[in-house]
Amino acid sequence: MIPSVLPTYSRAPLSFVKGEGAWLVEADGRRFLDLGAGIAVNSLGHAHPTLVAALTEQAGALWHTSNLYNIPQQQALADKLVEHSFADTVFFTNSGTEACELAVKMARKYWYEKGQPERTDIITFEGSFHGRSAAGIAAAGSEKMTKGFGPLLPGFVHLPWGDEDALRAAITDKTAAILIEPVQGEGGIRPMEDSALKALRALCDETGTLLVLDEVQCGVGRTGRLFAHEWAGITPDIMMVAKGIGGGFPIGAVLATENAASGMTAGTHGSTYGGNPLGCAVGCAVMDVVTAPGFLDDVGRKAGRLRQKLEGLVAAHPEVFESVRGSGLMLGLRCKAVNADVVKAGYGAGVLTVPAGDNVIRLLPPLTISDDEIDEAITRLDQAASTVSAG
Ligand SMILES: *Cc1c(COP(=O)(O)O)cnc(C)c1O
Repeated sequence: MIPSVLPTYSRAPLSFVKGEGAWLVEADGRRFLDLGAGIAVNSLGHAHPTLVAALTEQAGALWHTSNLYNIPQQQALADKLVEHSFADTVFFTNSGTEACELAVKMARKYWYEKGQPERTDIITFEGSFHGRSAAGIAAAGSEKMTKGFGPLLPGFVHLPWGDEDALRAAITDKTAAILIEPVQGEGGIRPMEDSALKALRALCDETGTLLVLDEVQCGVGRTGRLFAHEWAGITPDIMMVAKGIGGGFPIGAVLATENAASGMTAGTHGSTYGGNPLGCAVGCAVMDVVTAPGFLDDVGRKAGRLRQKLEGLVAAHPEVFESVRGSGLMLGLRCKAVNADVVKAGYGAGVLTVPAGDNVIRLLPPLTISDDEIDEAITRLDQAASTVSAG
């Protein structure tokens, strides 16, 4: 008999009942150090007092009105995102994949309104992940995500990752946009070199192609800058955000320049819940914490500490781990052992990590993790690695 919850996930046998900062408490009382943070969602850890206050205050005042009316919290969050980014305008969604849907529509509508309706192709890359909607799976294009779900949304051109010549050759008079993650998350924590991102921007400028960045996983402070592309000193035309911006409340957004958004006039897009008062009140609180003076510098400092200790861990367990990679507090340990076995061993040692492509385990701790908790994480990962190598 089919389970009452549709069995699309293979879940670990853990049920958490409470969260405190970087810690999760299992139903049986065991405490786990959470280096997954709900897959880069709990950016400020669990039950952050500022977020709890923002949500409960809004919950007592007003939950939902629809976008038939002005939503002050939505306006406030849009203003904050515009103030702190390249963007001139923001549309709010409930998830990352809905942001992907709009990014694709926006790019195509841009060229339609510019009198070049044949420019509909979106170039994407092997190993990418843009969510599970029809546009999201067509964009990623992997067999794992698309098989059996045809006919797929047409107009996506899939290229190998990191091949600049193939990219240049693939841009035609039908190309609307290039869609890429500055740091691939699901694909195995593969960061783009700053030089590659700069070259990508230059190529887009040269060919008039829109640059769409998917910062759903790497954005909102994760790499030590508010957005990952800032490291390369470039700006996109359109950017997808979700995960960390809500700190655990479901919210996503598409940020865009005035020019890139010019096709999206009244009636061209909408969402019942997108930009609702609850999500936007929490999003404002997240933005206030992450953009407070010194916060991101501290993320960078802690990232250095974690990375250095992970290098030591790799050196201590050469039969389990191969290398460390990533950016800021978005780190991956490429494994020699099977990554799923390492994640599982972590459960035994009371530490949560997340598997990714390319035999990597992801470490995406809350940005608020303390130095002591980083040290404790290394102790627990060391213990986990010892059981794997003994295994
Ligand atoms: C998680 C993720 C998405 C999809 O977000 P959902 O909220 O699960 O729809 C899209 N892009 C990237 C890079 C992601 O990590």
